[in-house]
Amino acid sequence: MTCIKPQRGLDEIEPYVPGKPIEEVQREYGLRDVIKLASNENPLGPSPRAVEAMREALVRVNMYPDGQSYYLRQALARHLDLDAEQVTVGNGADGIIVEICLAYLQEGDEVVVSRSSFPVYDVYTRVMRATLIKTPLREYGIDLEAMARAVNGCTKIIFVCNPNNPTGTVVTAPEVEEFLAAVPDHVLVVFDEAYYEFVDTEDFPDTLRYVRQGRQNVLTMRTFSKVYGLAGIRLGYAAAVPQVLAPLNVVREPFAVNLLAQAAGLAVLEDEEFLRATVAANRAGRHFLYREFERLGLFFIRSHTNFVLVRVGPQAGQVARALLERGIIVRPCGAYDLEEFLRVTVGSAEQNARLIAALEEILR
Ligand SMILES: *Cc1c(COP(=O)(O)O)cnc(C)c1O
Repeated sequence: MTCIKPQRGLDEIEPYVPGKPIEEVQREYGLRDVIKLASNENPLGPSPRAVEAMREALVRVNMYPDGQSYYLRQALARHLDLDAEQVTVGNGADGIIVEICLAYLQEGDEVVVSRSSFPVYDVYTRVMRATLIKTPLREYGIDLEAMARAVNGCTKIIFVCNPNNPTGTVVTAPEVEEFLAAVPDHVLVVFDEAYYEFVDTEDFPDTLRYVRQGRQNVLTMRTFSKVYGLAGIRLGYAAAVPQVLAPLNVVREPFAVNLLAQAAGLAVLEDEEFLRATVAANRAGRHFLYREFERLGLFFIRSHTNFVLVRVGPQAGQVARALLERGIIVRPCGAYDLEEFLRVTVGSAEQNARLIAALEEILR
């Protein structure tokens, strides 16, 4: 047994558990044809333009990437109508969450998150020995009023996952406006908009507007993993005023964004067609799932993302296992305090139909 001890308290932190990889399920269950509807990946695959750009970049991987991601940041700034100094890129949005926590948190700080929200905030808050404050959901959505009420002199960060993973709900522009008016300047408000491009409502907040206005305590984060179909290459970005981003530049590992990711990101930003096709296919798939869940008498939450939260009852864990046995990986939500629910990614039409057929068989 080793005497080398990890930092104090680390052994009490539950690591983030991702959806099971397809290969693991194939191995464990002796199955060939396995589909994954557990991690909100793009069923259309990656953008062909991104693949082409990466193919061209492959012969340059003997070189370190541009540590500043100069061209990608320029392109993002144009795309988002921001200055390049107001944009930073990271090794996935997850990488940016880690950077935010490293840069801003220490023991004694408090971080406000919602219950039943993205668990990566919790992990790194605790790694930094800051205190996690969880506000309850309101009708399965994030309760911004409760979050604002949880603020005190020790509060450092509020993570607002919008749309929220795993509920798929949004907080609206008027709610955000009121919330930001109530939150004091010493609190960094992080809007995690990983599913931004899927949002289907007029009153979704334009949080980049706050950055353009020079607001000193707002950071918006998005990712290339979901709508852009680049989860495997790890690329995310954040927008905030330069003063907020500067500490992230200190803690970021050198070359955090690899050469292929930079090439793919640049290419996919130009691929409007792929984005539109993804959003359209997702909307159709989501409505198919709604109709089928209704037919099966299952309660579900209307979603602004590429996943749907559906209640299958107290035996949700068993249902998830039964789906695994049929080669379908979904996300049980016990770890999100939603014991009776499964989170299912909207897949291709064929995958969605297979999921419904299996669910129907299992629940009968
Ligand atoms: C998927 C997801 C992320 C992580 O995105 P990556 O860029 O793949 O690291 C962050 N936040 C939320 C809410 C997500 O669902």
